[in-house]
Amino acid sequence: MTTSIALFTRDLRVRDNPVLHAAAAADRCVPLFVLDDAITSSSFSNANRASFLHDSLADLDASLRERGGRLVVRRGKVVEEVARIVCAHDVTEIHVAADVSRYAHRREEALRELGVDLHVHDASINAVPPLSLTPSGGGDHFAVFTPYFRKWETVHRRGVLRAPQRLTVPEISGDLPQLRHGTPSPDLTEGGETVGRKLMASWARSGVDDYADVHDALADDATSHLSPHLHFGTVSVTELIDRVGTGSEGARAYVRQLAWRDFHHQVLAARPESATEDYRTRHDRWRRSDRDFEAWRDGRTGYPIVDAAMRQLDREGWMHNRARLVVASFLSKTLYLDWRRGARHFVDLLVDCDLANNQMNWQWVAGTGTDTRPNRVHNPVAQAVRYDQEGLYVKRYLPELADVDPRHVHEPWKLPDDERKALDYPPPMVDLREAADRFAAARRKR
Ligand SMILES: Cc1cc2nc3c(=O)[nH]c(=O)nc-3n(C[C@H](O)[C@H](O)[C@H](O)COP(=O)(O)OP(=O)(O)OC[C@H]3O[C@@H](n4cnc5c(N)ncnc54)[C@H](O)[C@@H]3O)c2cc1C
Repeated sequence: MTTSIALFTRDLRVRDNPVLHAAAAADRCVPLFVLDDAITSSSFSNANRASFLHDSLADLDASLRERGGRLVVRRGKVVEEVARIVCAHDVTEIHVAADVSRYAHRREEALRELGVDLHVHDASINAVPPLSLTPSGGGDHFAVFTPYFRKWETVHRRGVLRAPQRLTVPEISGDLPQLRHGTPSPDLTEGGETVGRKLMASWARSGVDDYADVHDALADDATSHLSPHLHFGTVSVTELIDRVGTGSEGARAYVRQLAWRDFHHQVLAARPESATEDYRTRHDRWRRSDRDFEAWRDGRTGYPIVDAAMRQLDREGWMHNRARLVVASFLSKTLYLDWRRGARHFVDLLVDCDLANNQMNWQWVAGTGTDTRPNRVHNPVAQAVRYDQEGLYVKRYLPELADVDPRHVHEPWKLPDDERKALDYPPPMVDLREAADRFAAARRKR
C-alpha cells in the first residue's frame, strides 16, 4: 500500500496541478495544507490575502470532496505537521511544488530530511522553472528581460493535466478553521479555483484579444485581474497560457506579461537577498520624511493620479499595473524615499502580493533592480494625461474631483482661484521639477 502527501502551498487547485496529479496515483493520498505559523503570524498575512486564502481553501476542500476526498488543514510548523502525518499514516511519498523564496528552499531541505521520497514539481507555480534558463554569455540567471523572454518563448511546456477523478483519503483530523481577520478592503475580489476558472474562461474568450491596445488605459480597467489567482495558484499559469494561445496580438502581448512573472521569480531564486537588499545598489541615501510617506500612503499628495491609485489600493486591495508604476516612481524617485517603505505598504494591502513580483518590481521602478534605464522617472502628470485622457480613472476614486473639467482634472492647481479653493483637495506636496533635479543630483553623486 502506498500513501502520499500532496502538500499544497501556492497551488490551490485540483486542475492542472502536478503535485496533486502525481500524489493521487498512490493508493491513499493526504491533500494537506498547513497554516504556517511563520507566515500567519508575520506581517505578510494581511486581511485581504487571509480572506482570499480562506475562499480558496474552502473551494479546494469542496472540489476534493466531490472526488471522494477532502482537504486536511493543520496549523503549526509545516515540516513538523508533515512529519506527524508521515509517522501516523506510513506515508511513502511527499509531493510539493518548487518555489523560489529562501523560506521555500529551507522548507524543501527540511522535508528532504524526513527520509521519505520527496518529489518537488517544477512548472507548477511558474510556466518555466526558475533557473532552468541561463544566459549564453554566462551567469546563473537573466538580469535583462528581453533575452530572457526570447529563450522563455522557445521552451517546451508540459501538457495541461486533468484533475484526479477519485481520491482515497485516510481517516485523519484537520478541518478548515476561520482564517479571515482584520478588515479586508470593501471591494476585495473573491478567491477560489471556481471563481478563477470563470475569470480565466471569460478572459480567454473575450478579453485578451484587445489586451495589446488597452492594457495601459487606466479607466478601461481592461487587464485580466488574474494576479491574485496566479499568486495563490487557483489558476494555473500553464493552463492559462494554453487557453489564451498566441492567435492574436493581444494574446501574444499578454503571454509576454506572464513571462515577466517568471522573470522576476528567477531573479529572486538566484538572489534571494534582493527581497530586502538592492539588487544593484546605487548607494542611495534615501530621505526619511514620515510626513511625505504618510501623504503618499493616504492618497494626499495633491497629484490626482497618485492619490486615485492609492485609494484604489485601499478600496480593492489591488491596483492597475500602470498606476503601480506611477505611484512607485513617485515614492522612490520624486519623493526619494526608500523603495522598501513603499513595498512594505503594498505587502500590507495587495491581495496579489508576491515576494518576487512585488519586491523586484519595486526595485525595477526605483532603479535598484533590473531596469536598463534606472534613472527614468514616471512624471505623474504626463502619465495621467497619456493613460487617463478623460480623467475617468481619477474621478472614479477621487469623488472630490468629480465635477472638475477633464482639461484640469490632472492639474487642479491650475484652476481659477475660486474653483480651486472650493475643492476639498490638497495642493501638490512637491514641485516636480525640483524633485527631478534633486533625484538626478543624488544619483549623479554616486
Ligand atoms: C511597484 C509594483 C509592484 C507590483 N507588485 C506585484 C505583486 O505583488 N504581485 C503581482 O502579481 N504583480 C505585481 N506587480 C505587477 C503587475 O502590476 C500586476 O501583476 C498586475 O497589475 C496584475 O493585474 P492583472 O492580473 O490584471 O495583470 P495583467 O495585465 O492581466 O497581466 C497578466 C499577468 O501577468 C503578470 N504580470 C503582469 N505584469 C507584470 C510585472 N510587471 N511583473 C510581474 N508579473 C507581471 C501577472 O501575473 C498578471 O496577473 C507589481 C508591479 C509594480 C510596478
